[in-house]
Amino acid sequence: MNQCEWCGTGEAKIHLTGETSSNVCNHCYNALMSEELGIEVEQLMESFTMKDDEGNLRTFHVEMRIQPIGICLEAKENKGLGYQFAIHGELDDSQSDLLKRLIEKVRNGIQEKQIETGTFQNGQVFHSMIHDQVVGRVEFDEASDGLPLVIIDGKPYTWEEVGKMLMTYEGFQFKLKMYDMTDDVD
Ligand SMILES: [Zn+2]
Repeated sequence: MNQCEWCGTGEAKIHLTGETSSNVCNHCYNALMSEELGIEVEQLMESFTMKDDEGNLRTFHVEMRIQPIGICLEAKENKGLGYQFAIHGELDDSQSDLLKRLIEKVRNGIQEKQIETGTFQNGQVFHSMIHDQVVGRVEFDEASDGLPLVIIDGKPYTWEEVGKMLMTYEGFQFKLKMYDMTDDVD
């Protein structure tokens, strides 16, 4: 981990450029922005745990980022390539209300399973879309040559696996539309 150049304890995640450049942690960045923008930083809970549709406990780490264009609040599952949710609020919004909105988004987002896994008679595993549609997230796949890894139901699927799921729909039309992490996918 790269340490924050200002406090020396946090993880440096943000690169600041100006007269001098520095790598700082989210906490220091928020302190700087709140001072510049004249807003108070509320002390929010750093993590929460919630049950998904199958009763598995999932723990999310909360991170807030104060930016000139507004506040971004993010909930990331505490494991690589799991669920991730984010919302955008205005600078004068109550930060604890934003956190409630974020938690609501997580609750809705983990309640409905989208992919089921089955096994063919020959033992081969297959995945299929339960509702003829999926909502997911595009991630980098270090094991593939430029193909994405797609996170659905808080689980990674290779592009090949996604392609195979589509073959149930041979002859169908489909719609592919991209959304920002803070958007609500309808
Ligand atoms: Zn720091």
